[in-house]
Amino acid sequence: MDLILLGYPGAGKGTQAEMLKAIGFKHISTGDIIRDEIKRGTLLGKQVESNIAKGNLVPDSLIIDILINAISGKTNILFDGFPRTLAQGEALLKYFEKRGKEEPKVILLKISEEEVLKRLTSRRICSKCGNIENIHDAGYKGVCSKCGGTLYTRADDELSSAKHRLEVFKKETEPLLEFYSKQAGYLTIDGKRSAEEVFTSIRQAIEV
Ligand code: AMP
Repeated sequence: MDLILLGYPGAGKGTQAEMLKAIGFKHISTGDIIRDEIKRGTLLGKQVESNIAKGNLVPDSLIIDILINAISGKTNILFDGFPRTLAQGEALLKYFEKRGKEEPKVILLKISEEEVLKRLTSRRICSKCGNIENIHDAGYKGVCSKCGGTLYTRADDELSSAKHRLEVFKKETEPLLEFYSKQAGYLTIDGKRSAEEVFTSIRQAIEV
């Protein structure tokens, strides 16, 4: 089964993706792919660097190609951060239809706007293993709790960029939620609870 996780930035998609990986899903994060391109200084990375820093979306034509390339030949895909626009959702649907594959199940992780800003500005990422931490978590030590690596703040998690990403989501992604809400099997899960509780709800929803 393929699964699409939707939600505001900071809704917990990356954290859930890590947990879903442990039960066999292949995590495809378009954000991670792009950040890697930027880190390696590739042509693509240079093309999209300013979009990301400002909290804007990468153009549909580019991101759809990146995504299709990344999922080709894979099964049990977990889509994290894609689709984000109606055009991307339609392109993905076409991709599945063309191959006679069952459409992915779609789950929306719901949290409030206030919670988004709180989570994004307090989120820290491990520079070594990519683990996601939060400065408000009990037991936060200022270094990665998994590998001891140095933690950093994503540039687009700074308050002004985070606020802008929220607005971009409302403008670009909400029409996509409308589109999915008409599909059978579309599910909304309360993302405000602990990561473990959210994970249990997702597992119940997908029956694995
Ligand atoms: P994320 O890690 O999913 O929060 O993505 C970080 C940034 O990468 C976004 O703010 C966009 O600039 C870009 N990005 C990631 N996925 C997409 C997408 N599906 N469409 C357009 N831009 C994207």
